[in-house]
Amino acid sequence: MQALMNKAVSISQILGGIVYPRHCFYCERFISLQPALRICSTCQSSLQLNAPPFCQRCGRTAPQDALCVSCEEWQTPPGTLDHTYFLFTYQGIARQLIYEFKINEAEYSKSIIRHYLEGFLNHIPNPWDHIDYIIPLPPHKKTRLQKNDMNTTLARILGALIQRPVRPILKRTRTIAKQTALSRFERLSNPKGSLAIARSVGLAGKRLVLVDDVITTGATSEEAAHVLKEAGAKQVNILALARGEI
Ligand SMILES: [Zn+2]
Ligand SMILES: [Zn+2]
Repeated sequence: MQALMNKAVSISQILGGIVYPRHCFYCERFISLQPALRICSTCQSSLQLNAPPFCQRCGRTAPQDALCVSCEEWQTPPGTLDHTYFLFTYQGIARQLIYEFKINEAEYSKSIIRHYLEGFLNHIPNPWDHIDYIIPLPPHKKTRLQKNDMNTTLARILGALIQRPVRPILKRTRTIAKQTALSRFERLSNPKGSLAIARSVGLAGKRLVLVDDVITTGATSEEAAHVLKEAGAKQVNILALARGEI
């Protein structure tokens, strides 16, 4: 009987853990009975959050009104994008969080991302009340594991926060080589001609924000900005979850 009761308790604990997950998604440390976010304070403080002042070229933290160390070193020329913003450096906990969001579409990962995105919007000097459309970058070919298009989900979260419409108008015209297999020069030129506008929504004079999961070289978002400005857009910004080190 005692064994049966013990079994019942452990089953209810397991079920309770599923209905109200009480542990940090990353380190599995107990947080509370009904945590608002499934990330513990230790993991929160280990997230590498991007903070202003932002580099005018790549969006990394930089001295006020100056380029960051990386853009100084590579002598990054001005691009077509007007502003680049990202929330995290792509490593450790942020990397796992984005993986959970992308592959599993886990609700808790959406809540954590919404929380940090809402906080990050306070860093943007002129709040995006002048933005006309939010445009998700089209996904690469989905992997077998991937359920949905993460960038559209992310664009909808941003759209709800800043009360702006989402317009998925870009399409990929060809599959580009995997960026990690290429040299820096090849990576920068690889996405040229790989994007087009799938349907017109009247872009003349519009101010846009692109949404992407992870920026690596920034070449794909530059290509998107180029295509959108050729179609008449006045301003193209990008907001990404993370930026990888190259
Ligand atoms: Zn943790
Ligand atoms: Zn920079």
